[in-house]
Amino acid sequence: MSDYLIKAMAAGGQIRAYAATTAAIVEEARQRHNTSPIASAALGRLLTAGAMMGAMMKTAEEKLTLRINGSGPIGGLTVCADAASQVKGYAKNPQVMLPPTPNGKLDVAGAIGAGVLSVTRDLRMGEPFTGNCILVSGEIAEDLTYYFATSEQTPSSVALGVQMNKNNTVKHAGGFILQLMPDADDGIAEALENKIAALPPVTTLLDQSNTPEDILQLLLGDHSLQILSKTPCAFACDCSKERILAAIAGLQREELAAWIEDQIPVEGVCEFCGEKYQIQPEELRRLFDGKSDA
Ligand SMILES: [Zn+2]
Repeated sequence: MSDYLIKAMAAGGQIRAYAATTAAIVEEARQRHNTSPIASAALGRLLTAGAMMGAMMKTAEEKLTLRINGSGPIGGLTVCADAASQVKGYAKNPQVMLPPTPNGKLDVAGAIGAGVLSVTRDLRMGEPFTGNCILVSGEIAEDLTYYFATSEQTPSSVALGVQMNKNNTVKHAGGFILQLMPDADDGIAEALENKIAALPPVTTLLDQSNTPEDILQLLLGDHSLQILSKTPCAFACDCSKERILAAIAGLQREELAAWIEDQIPVEGVCEFCGEKYQIQPEELRRLFDGKSDA
């Protein structure tokens, strides 16, 4: 089971398309953060979007951060992606549980609540740029569709899905993003809307053994689909002991002094991947000395 992403175009470049299968990413996030089924679905959808939006970036150095801050019990989601579709992310309250919706689905919108989606693009030159928009549904795919239309002036269709096994591991995850370029004919938008409306949910398509290529073929087969690339995507975190130490170095002198006095190792945890780092009293002492020199 390895995840990958397809980049494609159709209608002679009037449509840009991305599709991905991300079950391994979402399962790794589930294991690292011990997410409940709702949190797995919510975080999994945003991780899937991150992998595809990473592939939209123009330079290899660019970084993308997707944040959802809502009033619901999940308390918010954060996902980071790079141009190679390496993604990492976490939910603030990963153990959130809610009753299913009336049609038996995981209540992702209920877990997220009302709030804001922010997309930060760091081009690694100057200040990062952030676009914000209100959540229109809390189901994430619709919210991103709205974000692309309002903040990036790009008519888009986003579909994201995560399906769990009975034992709460991840069975399927994936999605697609279709975007209309500014020169697209009006007729294309209408034809695509009809196609999308008639398409079963992404998780149903994946469950029927459709690949990302098959899904794009179903959507864009009538519009001269051209697959441009197939690349791996994965959960990956760039944390290290040095970064955790740098974060601790930002704390108050008094806190560091108290830890050193206690003579016990301190545990630093990376919030993105859950990796634990043991910081020894001697290392804290060196940090403390560094701070007193300053
Ligand atoms: Zn990490």
